Amino acid sequence: MPTVPKPISFTKDEGFFELSKNTVFSGVAKGMGGLFSYLGLASGVENRLTAVIDDGKQDEEYMLQVSPGEIKIIGGERGIYYGVMTLLQLAAKNLKDGIANIPVCKIDDRPKYAYRGFMLDVSRHFFPPSTIKKILDVLSVLKINYFHLHISDNQGYRLESKEFPKLNEIGSVRAGTRGDGKEVKGYYTAAEIEEMVGYALERRIEIIPELDIPGHTIALLASYPYLGCEGKEMKVAETFGISDNILCAGKESTYEFLYKLVDEIASYFPSKYFHLGGDEAPKTKWKNCPHCKKALIDNNLKSFSELQSHFINKIIERLEQKGKTVIVWNEAIYGGLLKDGAICQYWSDGKKPRRVFAAADGGRKTIISKFSPYYLDYPYGMTPLKKTYNFDPEMDGFTSEGLKNIMGVEAPLWTEYVDTEEKLFYQMLPRLMAVAESGWGSAKDYTDFKVRLESLRPLFAMMGIKMPSLGECDPGPIKGAIATVKFFINAFDRSMINSSINAIKAQSERRR
Ligand SMILES: [Zn+2]
Repeated sequence: MPTVPKPISFTKDEGFFELSKNTVFSGVAKGMGGLFSYLGLASGVENRLTAVIDDGKQDEEYMLQVSPGEIKIIGGERGIYYGVMTLLQLAAKNLKDGIANIPVCKIDDRPKYAYRGFMLDVSRHFFPPSTIKKILDVLSVLKINYFHLHISDNQGYRLESKEFPKLNEIGSVRAGTRGDGKEVKGYYTAAEIEEMVGYALERRIEIIPELDIPGHTIALLASYPYLGCEGKEMKVAETFGISDNILCAGKESTYEFLYKLVDEIASYFPSKYFHLGGDEAPKTKWKNCPHCKKALIDNNLKSFSELQSHFINKIIERLEQKGKTVIVWNEAIYGGLLKDGAICQYWSDGKKPRRVFAAADGGRKTIISKFSPYYLDYPYGMTPLKKTYNFDPEMDGFTSEGLKNIMGVEAPLWTEYVDTEEKLFYQMLPRLMAVAESGWGSAKDYTDFKVRLESLRPLFAMMGIKMPSLGECDPGPIKGAIATVKFFINAFDRSMINSSINAIKAQSERRR
């Protein structure tokens, strides 16, 4: 039966339930039918969907039973919501003239992993709350329960800050992107954040904020230059790539700033999780900074990598006092001293995946976001749908002990080259459907998946989303190679080359 993610068990029988505008969502299901408005249902016979909580079931588990006169859902609280989402998919597929004839059937269903996520980078390009709500609707349909919002990076800071207003005046505005001279700006106001968080919770989704530190912080440094080792004035970054300019880990003033900032961000987002980034932080500035060098000695640390662990640990402790569990990108565990409770988000093969496997072995919870199959900003030529679909999160390298610590999966969408809502959804769907299936633990069958995916195309169309054709999703080796080359030529364009030349020039001048 065509739903995504595919249910654990499904049996079909003769007959139909006629779902229409007159179908009453009662019991626990009351108020869960909001997304059915996309279907434009017409008037029909009066009938009922009832839902009952079963304490014997897990929170995300449900049983859906469709008979000609009634639909029943029994499950945990979230499970019942998922049952309603399954029903939405069935209704969209069987919709004709505003009436959905849902086949009589029985579904037993539950997810394999507790964590199924999607990440959006709103720093490189800012997307308004209306786009965020549309994304949350899609996540809800696919039973994805975490929305990770990357709110800060070199190219912009995107939350209202009452504590540090320059993060909005300066940090939320950049003059252009790679020389185009077009201003990019924006941030979510406190009221908008509250609305988005509430909208997400209604859809059984938690929004996890990410303040990426100590690297990827030029928007912070441009707003408050004292946060850097040299205290130098700088502009919000207009080009992409990794920067040497990172927060100073030696000055007490950096920690005082971060404590207040994470307190403010945590006050916006009730999620039990908080992401602190920790990726791609070159230690060039730290090695030449008297404050950082002193911090190394004072804290008895052997390397600047250990100093990064020490730095992140201090912020983790602050967040733990607020009952938060911190997630970090995998580089942050390489310092070796990171606190045990922090979760590792594994994205990069790098040279050291064995450290990720070893950490999972030692009990560290891990989220799988491996970039080659799961980075949704990559063109389909580079990461075809089939590759995303066939990727097994229980990858080689994890031991049976380590596998127990895999919490789930998450697909990130970085937005350096994604500047419109249309492009965003083009990159996101249908690949996120494949990730949702892996997170749910559906049995793998690519041919069957494509059929179910196609049958959901009308639902997404009703939501105003256009997905690429299956031909575009799996372009084959030649078109794929061309798309890959184009992507890299675009990523390393003149402005990137120019900034590299300038950096080399600056370095040789310093040597003279
Ligand atoms: Zn420093």
